[in-house]
Amino acid sequence: MLDKRRFYINGEWVAPLQANDLEVINPATEQPIAVISMGTAADIDRAVAAAKKAYQTYSRTSAEERLALLERLLAIYKRRYDEVARTITLELGAPITMSMQQQADVGVGHLQGFIDALKNLHIREELPNGDILVREPIGVCGLITPWNWPINQIALKVIPALATGSTCVLKPSEFTPLNAMLYAEMVDEAGFPAGTFNLVNGDGVTAGAALSKHKDVDMMSFTGSTRAGIAVSKDAADTVKRVTLELGGKSPNIVFEDADLEDRVAGSVLECFNNSGQSCDAPTRMLIQRSVYDKAVRIAGAAGREARVGNPEDEGDHIGPLVSHIQYGRVQNLIEAGIAEGARVLVGGAGKPEGYETGYFVQPTIFADVRNDMRIAKEEVFGPVLSLIPFDTEEEAIAIANDTPYGLAAYVQTGDAERAERVASRLKAGMVHINGGPHRYGSPFGGYKQSGNGREGGKFGLEDFLEVKTIHRP
Ligand code: NDP
Repeated sequence: MLDKRRFYINGEWVAPLQANDLEVINPATEQPIAVISMGTAADIDRAVAAAKKAYQTYSRTSAEERLALLERLLAIYKRRYDEVARTITLELGAPITMSMQQQADVGVGHLQGFIDALKNLHIREELPNGDILVREPIGVCGLITPWNWPINQIALKVIPALATGSTCVLKPSEFTPLNAMLYAEMVDEAGFPAGTFNLVNGDGVTAGAALSKHKDVDMMSFTGSTRAGIAVSKDAADTVKRVTLELGGKSPNIVFEDADLEDRVAGSVLECFNNSGQSCDAPTRMLIQRSVYDKAVRIAGAAGREARVGNPEDEGDHIGPLVSHIQYGRVQNLIEAGIAEGARVLVGGAGKPEGYETGYFVQPTIFADVRNDMRIAKEEVFGPVLSLIPFDTEEEAIAIANDTPYGLAAYVQTGDAERAERVASRLKAGMVHINGGPHRYGSPFGGYKQSGNGREGGKFGLEDFLEVKTIHRP
């Protein structure tokens, strides 16, 4: 078993101030793979003090100096790419092909996106009224990341902090800490000055809350559940620090009768099941126009029955287990709620898939005839579970789509380009995908309503980490 009990503080791997071990579990085998330490408020204090000291000099470095560091980090990341993918497979259970193609790839894509954005960022601008506008690094940033796309979230927070001249303390999810520690090794090798990047493992209520409340932390950037995002905001309120949040979603996917049904319905099922359904922007509510409902249900059923679970170590396009026994329990609970509320099980259902008694595997599940007031349509399931909901008119589809406290992503499938734009303009969501259009590196990622605030990636992602100063001259 790997011994990963140290934290990365002030450019060194240091022992926690108080021993508190936690085993990291492989979700496919339920066996421990590593032991880490769970940090306390005192460990957070030490990391914040290092970040605060480093900020004094690092904040005055030039964009060119920081670009050189980022370029070095990119080269190191590319060299250790396979290791990142294998680590995510081991601790999250993402199948190795998916880890290689998606989970590890985001670390390259986002870093390149930020490098491009930093090259084009105007730090100093003269306004038409004669005033000068200067953008300055915000200070010490507390970064809390979840387990579902671990390197994605780390890259979307650590890089903009370091790119803009801020310093940071990262608390990754204790379910997937190993890839974060690998990232710390890469930041170290790239030569970022001591204290600019610090990592403390721990849980949300102890280490996370200590970071959010800390008087010397200037900004919190959080990704995770809406529940925890609210807790971070409340904890941060007393010190009036900036808080950016990337939270949950219950994204609608509107399938109109003029869509390419074979392609877009089957494709949407796979998008929903990707990463075992553990994505905040997954298209989990498929709204289908009633005139093509039966046909779309047949296509979705066939695509769903073809989805296979499998060992994450094996190559292929199967899906892996959920991250933890807690997540397994949550997903089972919601599948059972769907059955109890009268939704029709089209594919899958409660319990483990045959032959997968060990590991947190669940059956890819599709419910038909779902009403938008059922729990499976309202709550974020975070498992491979799709709800099919019929609608009659465009107006009704928009109403159902927006009838959720979330507003992260939305999807529209139609052969009518004008309708696509018209509907997109009325959806209360931060990102609208039309006919399978993917999210591209460098474009802003983030949500409306209870899906959060702020935008991650590229230019907007950098701006979230900058203060704006106006200089008034006589
Ligand atoms: P959480 O939101 O609880 O965890 C995400 C991160 O936040 C972890 O690092 C966690 O630490 C930390 N955290 C939790 N509570 C606090 C707090 N009070 N203050 C500071 N940090 C905190 O998600 P879960 O892992 O429990 O998953 C629950 C549900 O959240 C999922 O089923 C899914 O619906 C949603 N989710 C959404 C994500 C997204 O990408 N938007 C990502 C992950 C989950 P700790 O692990 O110790 O709690």
